[in-house]
Amino acid sequence: MTTQHALPSYLNPDDLGPWGQYLKQIDRVTPHLGSLSRWVETLKRPKRILVVDVPIERDDGSIAHYEGYRVQHNMSRGPGKGGVRFHQDVTLSEVMALSAWMTVKNAAVNVPYGGAKGGIRVDPKTLSKGELQRLTRRYTSEIALIIGPTKDIPAPDVNTNEQVMAWMMDSYAMIEGNLSTGVVTGKPISMGGSLGRREATGRGVFVAGQEAAAKRGVKIEGARVAIQGFGNVGGVAATMFANAGAKVIAVQDHTGTVVHSGGLDVAQLHKHVAEVGGVKGFPGVEQFMERDAFWGIESDILIPAALEQQITAAVAQQLRTKIILEGANGPTTPEADDILADKDVLVVPDVLANAGGVTVSYFEWVQDFSSFFWTEDEINARLTRIMQDAFKSVWDVAQDKNVTLRTATFILACTRVLQAREVRGLYP
Ligand code: GLU
Repeated sequence: MTTQHALPSYLNPDDLGPWGQYLKQIDRVTPHLGSLSRWVETLKRPKRILVVDVPIERDDGSIAHYEGYRVQHNMSRGPGKGGVRFHQDVTLSEVMALSAWMTVKNAAVNVPYGGAKGGIRVDPKTLSKGELQRLTRRYTSEIALIIGPTKDIPAPDVNTNEQVMAWMMDSYAMIEGNLSTGVVTGKPISMGGSLGRREATGRGVFVAGQEAAAKRGVKIEGARVAIQGFGNVGGVAATMFANAGAKVIAVQDHTGTVVHSGGLDVAQLHKHVAEVGGVKGFPGVEQFMERDAFWGIESDILIPAALEQQITAAVAQQLRTKIILEGANGPTTPEADDILADKDVLVVPDVLANAGGVTVSYFEWVQDFSSFFWTEDEINARLTRIMQDAFKSVWDVAQDKNVTLRTATFILACTRVLQAREVRGLYP
C-alpha cells in the first residue's frame, strides 16, 4: 500500500511567494550538481521552523500580539546565521526564502555557517521605543530555545539595528545567566560589536561593483549609479560610489524618488534623510519622479537595496543599465533573470553582492570568542579580500559552465553545502 503524504502548507504550489522564487533558483542549479543532486531535496526543506506569538503591553495599557518567526534552513556547514527583520509584510514564506538565501550566501563566501533568518510581522514605526524594546525582548525569549553562540546567531536586517541587537543579547544573557556576546552580531561597539560592521554590507556591494565594472569595461569614475533603498545598504553604497567618483544619479526610497543627472550630493542627501526620514523633498534635485519611472532611468550600475521581488519581468523589460548589484535580498524574480540575461545585463546576485554584512558578522563572532578586537583597517582589508576572492571564484564557474552569476554562485555554494551534508551522513 502506498501512503499519500500531504504537502506542508509552505509547499503549496499555488502560492509560494519568495520561497517559490528560491525553489526555482534551486531547480536551475540542480543539473549542475552531479552526484550531489541526490541530496538536493535537503535544500528544498528548511531544517527547522519556529513560529511564535509575541505579546506585549502597549503604552496605553492594551495588549497587542505579533507573529514572530525563526527559520533555520540548513546547518550542515555550521550554526545558523542570519538577520531578524521587523516589517509589516513579513510572512513565513519570506523568512523561509531569506533563511535559504543565507545558506547559499554563507557558503558562497565560505564562512562556517548554515543559514537562518527571523522576523516579526510588525511596522516598528507604530511602536514607541519602550514597546519596541518589550517586543524585541519577548521575541528573543520565545526563540531562545533554538538560538545561541554555537547554534544560531541572529543579526540586523530590515528595520533592526545595533540597539535591537543589544536588547537581544541582554535578554539572552539574562535567560542563560552568562554574558553570551556571541549570540548576536551587529552589536554596538561598546558591547562586543565589530568596527566596520555597520558599513560592511554597503562596502561589500561596492567591492563587488568594482569587480563587475572591471569585467564590463565600466569605469567607476563617472559611472552613473541608480539606487533603490537608502538605508544601511543603499545609503552606504551610495557614499562609497560617490567617494570613488561615480555619479549617484537617482535614489528611490519608500518616500519618493530623487534624480540629478549630474550626480546627487550624497552627503547632503544623508543629512536630509536623517532630518526628515526619507529622500522626499530633498532640495538638491533636478527632478522628482513617479515611482515606476525610476526603472526607466538610464544608468551604468543599478543597485536594488530595498525589498525582494522588485525587478519583475515587466520591470526587467524597461531597465536600461549594464550592471545590477543586488544589495537587497531576492530583488529579482527568475523570469526577470532570464530577460536580463537576454539583454546582456550583468547581474551580481544578492548571495554574492550583499555578503559583506555577514562576512563582518563572522569577524565579530570570532572577535567575541577570543575577546580580542581587530582594527578597522584589518577588518576592511579582510572583507575586501573575501569579496574579491568570492567574485573571482563565481566568475570562473560562470565562464566554465556558461551560466549566469546567480546560477554560478548557487553551484559553488550548494556544492559546498551538499558536500558537507554527504560527508556528515544522515543521523541516526
Ligand atoms: N541581514 C544581513 C543579510 O541579509 C546580515 C546577516 C548577518 O550578518 O548574519 O545578509
